[in-house]
This record gives sequence, structure tokens and C-alpha cells, in this order.
Amino acid sequence: MNKDNHDKIRKKYGSLVVDFVTAQSSDDAIYCLFQNLSLIFEYNDFFLQNAWNAFPRIKKLESSLNKIEKKIIALLNKRREFLSSLSYLLCTSLMEIKRYDRKNKLFTVLKGRVDERCNFQYFKEDVLSESSIKQYLNDNELNILKVYIETEEKILDFEKTFDGFDKINTIYINNIDIYWGHSEIEDIRWRIKLLLNGIASGRNLNESKIINRILLYYRECHPKIIISKDGILDEIPPFSEEALQEKPQLKMNNEETFSNWHMHYMIPVIYCLVQFLLTNQYPFLRLCDDCDNLYIKKNATTQRFCSSKCRMHFNSQKAIKSGKAKEYKRKKRLEGAKESYYG
Ligand SMILES: [Zn+2]
Repeated sequence: MNKDNHDKIRKKYGSLVVDFVTAQSSDDAIYCLFQNLSLIFEYNDFFLQNAWNAFPRIKKLESSLNKIEKKIIALLNKRREFLSSLSYLLCTSLMEIKRYDRKNKLFTVLKGRVDERCNFQYFKEDVLSESSIKQYLNDNELNILKVYIETEEKILDFEKTFDGFDKINTIYINNIDIYWGHSEIEDIRWRIKLLLNGIASGRNLNESKIINRILLYYRECHPKIIISKDGILDEIPPFSEEALQEKPQLKMNNEETFSNWHMHYMIPVIYCLVQFLLTNQYPFLRLCDDCDNLYIKKNATTQRFCSSKCRMHFNSQKAIKSGKAKEYKRKKRLEGAKESYYG
């Protein structure tokens, strides 16, 4: 592959990652990913449909639920996310939150200790009040606790007033692996977006926290180097058209461990991100001057907007501010045009 072609493809990899992080939801992000993979790697015509059918999407899971039921599921999921963040924060104090008793505002925690071989062990369960838990958290972390308790209270309201609560709770628990994987996808999307926003604003990779984790995953994926038909070295991506059409392994071992099924879909994103960053294409990554969204510039021109819609919106706002729009309208009115023609 010659250098121009190589750069062109790497730029497409960048677009794939940008589309992935700027999509509206985790379902949409994965659909965009399949579409882009299919185009870039020239997958067969059935790939998109097959891969999409195999992907455990939230929309499919919730297709028979109404608005309130979906809201309850979102709250239950939020509760799980906050609980796991809190446990993560408390682990430096060798503690993990197990349950929260909403009625009496009491936390059941697992307390741990480090043995002589530096292994961490849980050794007893304890019950702590809200104020005791607060002692272990700093101001920022207290905010997480606050939102967590608010979420618990909202759930309690639904539990008291909504008849089908138990049914919805069962749906959630039965599909917790799917919800967990989607939360992980959202988390990775959010972190990569921060990284790309930083790069587009001229920040150095040293300032990013996620890049080391990305590189760790990348090394684990082992992309293979081969000699291509043209007799030059080339790399085979560490994922395949076939594997992406298979249903990922969903399993629930116990309450605390989940299958890493979402990584099945993250590997192509991580691969494309690192490949994009390896080539010096950073100047092509930009933030739109109008909507602030990330995009990849098509060429070296001074493109400032992600879409023509944003360019038009920006220019019309500028015209309104400068009074040019008013002047234009006045002129058109004098010429006898109808309002709707120049509105
Ligand atoms: Zn824009």
C-alpha cells in the first residue's frame, strides 16, 4: 500500500472512531461501527444485517416496554452504576458497598484487609449509617453519594406506586449482563471522546488518562504483520468479519462478575483509534466552530464545520449579529418579494 493510500485509510479509521463516540446511544454507536467497518474493510452485503442481529441491543430488549417502564430500567441501571463507582472509591479504604437499605438509610458494607502476602481479603460485613460512609469520601465523591441516594429514592417511589415494578425489576436482573456491557460501551465512548476533544484542542497525549488503557488493550489484541501480495509488509486487523457476526458470549457468573462481551465490539474501535493516532493526522481532527462536535476534516483546506448545515447556521447567526440579515430582508422587501422567500 503506498503512503497516500495508507494515510487515506487511516483517516477513515479516524472517522470511524469519531462516528462511534458522537452517536446518540450505545445501540446507534455500534450500528455506525458496523456500517463503517463494512465500508472500510469491504465486508459482504449481509454483514451489516447479520452483525446487527447478533448484537444485544437495548432497543430490541425494551421494544415491548412503555415510557415509564423504560424509565424504571434506566433508574435501576443508574443505581448499579453509582453503586459500583462508590465501591470503587471506597476500595482505597478497603471497603465495598454491598447493599443500601433505603427505608432506614443504612449501608451494608464488606470490609477487607490485606494479608501478609499483600492479597486483599474481605473479612466481615458491617452496617454503616449515611454519615459514617461520608467520612470516607471527599467533596467530589460525596456528590456521587448524593446522586446515588436520590436515585434510590426515585426507585422507592416507583416501587410503592407502580404496579408492574417487580416485573420490570425481573427483566432488568435477567438481562443485567446486557445492561452492564452497554454501560461499559458508554463509558469507553465517553473517555475516547474526551481524548479526541483534547487532541482537537491541541492537547498532548501525555495529558490523557485513557490512552494507556487503550494501548494496553491494543497490545493484547496482537494485530498480525504479514507480507502482502505486493511483497510489502502489511498488518491484518485483530478482528474478523465472521467473528463480528457471531453472538457474543453473555453470561452471568455471580452478582459481581460479568462477561466482557462488549470487548468483542471494542477491539475494532481500539484498533482504528491507535492506527489513526500512529499516523500524523491529528490536524485533521477538529471541533466544529458551530456545534462543537468532533469531526475529521476531509482535506487540508480550512474546513471549520462538521456539516454544511452547521456552516449555514453559523453564517446566518453571524449575519443576524452583524445586522446583515436585517439589511438583506429590508432590501428583499423593497424588491417586493414575499416574506417566506427570504425568511
Ligand atoms: Zn457542527
